[in-house]
Amino acid sequence: MNVMTLEHTRTIDEVKTSFALALEMAKDEGHKVVGCLCSYFPREVAWAAGAITVGLCGTTQGPIEAAEQVLPADQCPMVKATYGRAINNTCPIFPLADCIVGETTCDGRKKMYEVLGREKSMHVMDLPQKPENPAALRYWIDEVHRLKGFLEAQLDCRITHDALLAAIEQGNRERVLLKRIHQCRKSHPVPIMGLDLVALSTSMSYTIDRKHYLKELESVLEELRRRIAAKQFACSADRPRILWTGLGNSLGCDKVLRLVEQSGGVVVCQEGCGGVTRMDDQIDPGDDPIEAIARRYLKVTCASMSPNNTRFEQIDRLITEYKIQGVIDLAWQSCHAFNIESFRVREVVKEKHGLPYLHIVTDYSQSDVGQLKVRIEGFIEQIKFGLGR
Ligand code: SF4
Ligand code: SF4
Repeated sequence: MNVMTLEHTRTIDEVKTSFALALEMAKDEGHKVVGCLCSYFPREVAWAAGAITVGLCGTTQGPIEAAEQVLPADQCPMVKATYGRAINNTCPIFPLADCIVGETTCDGRKKMYEVLGREKSMHVMDLPQKPENPAALRYWIDEVHRLKGFLEAQLDCRITHDALLAAIEQGNRERVLLKRIHQCRKSHPVPIMGLDLVALSTSMSYTIDRKHYLKELESVLEELRRRIAAKQFACSADRPRILWTGLGNSLGCDKVLRLVEQSGGVVVCQEGCGGVTRMDDQIDPGDDPIEAIARRYLKVTCASMSPNNTRFEQIDRLITEYKIQGVIDLAWQSCHAFNIESFRVREVVKEKHGLPYLHIVTDYSQSDVGQLKVRIEGFIEQIKFGLGR
């Protein structure tokens, strides 16, 4: 990756392979590694334990065949690819993790974690799923305390108040910078294509030295602001501005995002995991950093929550803030939670804003690319020519 040119051409496998080499060296120096799997993971607790955190989610088709030897085929590709990478020795990072932490979001993840836990020491946080219930926060605070206890025992360390405060400061700084980077795409035209930002931000997130990561984020932000000031845009002004919501905006499982930008659109905003809304909600440590961390992470908006009202409020707001002309809502096959929520996304997009809306259900394979291309080209034309609203 070249931060100054914002160019990123490596595949996710190449990113992970080179990261694994750096991780091996860090382990030789005595660093501990915690594998994580979801946006509900309160990473500040692991950082306060002195650990390096690494994402272990699978985003490619390759490992799915191995996973299907154990898991039913009609599971979402994220669940299968994550498990497959762990068991078929294609993930260079998985063997380096000292332990893994998961959360009880959807049924597929929960049940997969039961078998994944046979491969590596694993702690599953019990995530309450009605976040508006006052008892949910109390329970989640206890869960974050239990995570602290697990990590202290597993990594043979003590997580101190001061270390938690330092980790919170680091996380807050990262979120501020990432949010500002995403917000540069309010510019019309945008200074960076959606696909390029996904590749760049995914690649940078595989980091050992978080202070260096902050410097990289600052450089990216500076470059994007420079481009906007110099009117050096990434595309022409006639590309329809697309809001991305749901799943599928990560390096590796980006086939639909790629098709959208190849078909003449530009993704200017992403809601959900990997997107701008995950950079909201700073942590004010107050007197009790564990409670503050718990408060922040319970606000993550995932379809596994019921109700998940904040997600629809955010989509509503982002459509206006980013001058959106059309919305693409992607759900993986067999992901009941996101598939069912699409009904409410459609209501916000079409009924409230009168904008074109495209719901896509797909997996990690390339088998439907031709069909998707036809649908996406039609969608972009619909926006350009103001058809069918
Ligand atoms: S979509 Fe939900 S389950 Fe998946 S990573 Fe995000 S928060 Fe976790
Ligand atoms: S995509 Fe849906 S089914 Fe798959 S892990 Fe995420 S929430 Fe669960």
